[in-house]
Amino acid sequence: MNFADSEIVNSILMEHGNHPVDTPEQADIILVNTCSIRDNAEAKIWNRLKFFRSVKRQNRDLTVGVLGCMAERVRERFLEKEKLVDLVVGPDAYREIPNLLAEVEDGRKAVNVILSLEETYADITPVRRGGNGVTAFISIMRGCDNMCSFCVVPFTRGRERSRAMHSIVDELRMLSDQGYREVTLLGQNVNSYNDEGTRFAELMYQASLVDPEMRIRFSTSHPKDFPDELLHVIREQKNLCNYIHIPAQSGNNEVLRRMRRPYTREQYLTLLDRMREIIPGVTLSTDIITGFCGETEQEHQDTLSLMETVRYEMAYLFAYSERERTLAHRKFEDDVPQHLKQQRLQEIIDVQRAGALERNRDEIGRRHLVLAENQSKRSADKLSGRTDTNKVVIFDRKDFKPGDYVEVVIQDATSATLFGEGIQVSSIREFEPEWLQV
Ligand code: SAH
Ligand code: SF4
Repeated sequence: MNFADSEIVNSILMEHGNHPVDTPEQADIILVNTCSIRDNAEAKIWNRLKFFRSVKRQNRDLTVGVLGCMAERVRERFLEKEKLVDLVVGPDAYREIPNLLAEVEDGRKAVNVILSLEETYADITPVRRGGNGVTAFISIMRGCDNMCSFCVVPFTRGRERSRAMHSIVDELRMLSDQGYREVTLLGQNVNSYNDEGTRFAELMYQASLVDPEMRIRFSTSHPKDFPDELLHVIREQKNLCNYIHIPAQSGNNEVLRRMRRPYTREQYLTLLDRMREIIPGVTLSTDIITGFCGETEQEHQDTLSLMETVRYEMAYLFAYSERERTLAHRKFEDDVPQHLKQQRLQEIIDVQRAGALERNRDEIGRRHLVLAENQSKRSADKLSGRTDTNKVVIFDRKDFKPGDYVEVVIQDATSATLFGEGIQVSSIREFEPEWLQV
């Protein structure tokens, strides 16, 4: 989401006559987009700001600004005269950046952290610098109203609002014309997308019609309100990817209740069964938090057993990090000791790796349609891409190039990566995976 936001900021800055440079030392303006989701994300930013202060010592005219979720917090410290930054801009005030920069130029410190009920930046065409020209993001919503008790997002990004469907479809069309092959639609909970009554399943259907050779992904879905209709649309439309990120957070009902996640383990598992039943070959991923307030050993074991039951293809696993202003901060005690959080996290990582390795080894011998994205980080002779099901595949470059859909036979697998051989260039419409034929 921050990548997508930075692209909007790029657009606003370039409209106002700025241009990008390659190093901090060459810059007149440095803006850092920030995340508050966990303490370690914030710690990185504070370090980065200290580094920019040293750059500023060499260049007195340099303006340093903080954008995004940390803006509110930086504002506090910055008003307490820490003097790390000249400019603080919250996630709904990016249009104000040119005016705020002018204020800084006049010798004032500039702050705008006001959150909006309407802003979606729908009319701003993001400038996608530094991407691979093959895959792109589009934010379809902003903010969140869910108020999970551990989460700071509703406070840093404000109320939930949806961007108009026609503006999303227009941007998809533009990306298709520019040669992009895959777009991920982003929102904190895409299932609550609502453009004057138009819901997410309809948006996905319309998105699938823009270009049958452009893949569409989405993230994130909240388990509380996943409609069957969306599963059927994904099944029917070949360019809608068979991959769903569906965060559980915990496998224990008491913890889910304390987290304010309004579903039970049983309802969650029923939903996942339905996903696997309706969309053959679908892959699933999750987010899990270990060591949430009051988590007992038994509750932790329930999360391990959930992971063993589901055997997710991918998972994003975190130790609980207390955030100010959240309900958990006000109401519960962050009482699982750090070493125990880490130990439980490691146990969950181990179960996840073992499950993902098994699932990936099942892929050996199968043919997948892989969208080639980049040169592999390890070797110039290899390309890296992803299957429809969002698994990373490394294969010999031969004459293939980024942007090609390549039919690849999988030959080897680790828990995180598949390795295969590219057979031929193919397309979404032509490709039929034989291992999915019943
Ligand atoms: N809107 C998405 C989540 C966005 S935040 C959803 O509801 O699924 C991404 C992930 O960060 C969350 O799913 C959660 O697992 C994790 N997270 C959020 N707050 C956290 C905290 N205080 N400590 C640790 N992890 C957290
Ligand atoms: Fe945070 Fe919950 Fe909203 Fe996700 S749904 S952003 S976890 S409050």
